[in-house]
Amino acid sequence: MPNSTLQPTQISAPKIAIIGGGLTGLFTATLLERAFSQINDQKIKDRALVPEITIFEKSRSVGRLATRYRSDSHTNKNWQWAFGAQFFTAKSASFQQFIKPWLQTDLLRPWHAQVVSLTPMAENNPTADMHLKEQWGSTQARYISTPKMTSWGRALADNLQHTTVNFNTRIAPLAGYKQTLANKTSNKTELFDENGNSLGHFDWVICTAPNGQAVEIMADSGFTEQAKITEPKMQACYSLMLGWNTDQPLPEALSRLDTAWDVAYVQESIIDRIFIEHHKPEYHALLPSMTIHARNDWSEQHVDDDIDTIKAKLLEAAQRALNWNAESTPSQVDCHRWRYAATVTASHKDQLGILVDDERQWIVSGDWCGQGNIESCYQMAAQTVAVIV
Ligand SMILES: Cc1cc2nc3c(=O)[nH]c(=O)nc-3n(C[C@H](O)[C@H](O)[C@H](O)COP(=O)(O)OP(=O)(O)OC[C@H]3O[C@@H](n4cnc5c(N)ncnc54)[C@H](O)[C@@H]3O)c2cc1C
Repeated sequence: MPNSTLQPTQISAPKIAIIGGGLTGLFTATLLERAFSQINDQKIKDRALVPEITIFEKSRSVGRLATRYRSDSHTNKNWQWAFGAQFFTAKSASFQQFIKPWLQTDLLRPWHAQVVSLTPMAENNPTADMHLKEQWGSTQARYISTPKMTSWGRALADNLQHTTVNFNTRIAPLAGYKQTLANKTSNKTELFDENGNSLGHFDWVICTAPNGQAVEIMADSGFTEQAKITEPKMQACYSLMLGWNTDQPLPEALSRLDTAWDVAYVQESIIDRIFIEHHKPEYHALLPSMTIHARNDWSEQHVDDDIDTIKAKLLEAAQRALNWNAESTPSQVDCHRWRYAATVTASHKDQLGILVDDERQWIVSGDWCGQGNIESCYQMAAQTVAVIV
């Protein structure tokens, strides 16, 4: 849908604000820069359309791609956990094309993980049951970022030419625009931080916060699509991070000679998946590290519980799955709560897509407008660029 403000006669490119420096925000800035660069190549010879893009991110780093590490003072080696997204898929041809440059530099790598199905020990099941399920890559490739899951986000931010990324900046809700729209002399939007400081006037505002936060940012602003923000349901996820010392024996499930594995899909447990971090390509120098994701439905039911109680329950479940004893008990244990981890989507065709208010030039986007994964971030970024450019 071409936008009326960008007729070929217009020579100034819009000022664009992106709320959120997660992958949706970074992909959107990247694709916007590319789209404007193509316009410059094709249409306007005498004056370039240089977009002025600003990403406002409330935290210190990029979104739900999260890496935590800890150093062992004896060995100077690290434990490392990708406690948000572990990997991503690239099913569409356009996303495959997009990731190619980073695959060529090996920043992104396919993970040909051996995946097992694991049923933990229980009263009626004295030993954990494990059997090989598949190897990733045989039908659908999964990719990781190296040396950390956050590395790709940093590389994307570093590659931006016409975009400023302002970390530690929380955008205040846009409430009040409904009243003031009638008096506005232009359709620029002034944004403020949480302390009331003006952050400038923008032609377009793109909000990429998770929908639980987007609904608050856009509340009482007159955003025409407000009711749709809460349509996709989000579920929480608890991540448990475990590590072992070099001189420690590993739990029975990790040292089994009959089944070498990298990822486990766990059955009949509050645990959903187990990922062995030091088995990932280029992660071999790590000390034994493992990230465990709890089931989303269980996490959602317990989303407000005390984190130490959650940690204890997950440790008990992990022990049943991995079968450690006093010697092979993990020396490192950490737990993280993700309030908005997974989007519950019934099917591909139920996807919401980005939400656009043409009059105000506001777009609400994010992985949750699609299927709630990294590939959706790209799809929503592409939809946004098609509206603006
Ligand atoms: C536990 C877990 C496991 C996952 N596993 C996978 C997986 O295996 N594969 C996969 O493809 N995907 C996975 N995902 C999903 C993937 O991480 C997300 O799809 C993706 O990171 C979402 O990116 P985003 O930019 O849409 O949102 P986010 O990363 O949430 O970015 C939104 C940003 O907006 C910022 N923000 C919010 N409000 C404001 C404000 N007022 N002002 C400024 N900034 C603000 C937030 O701080 C945040 O950084 C997983 C997610 C979790 C939590």
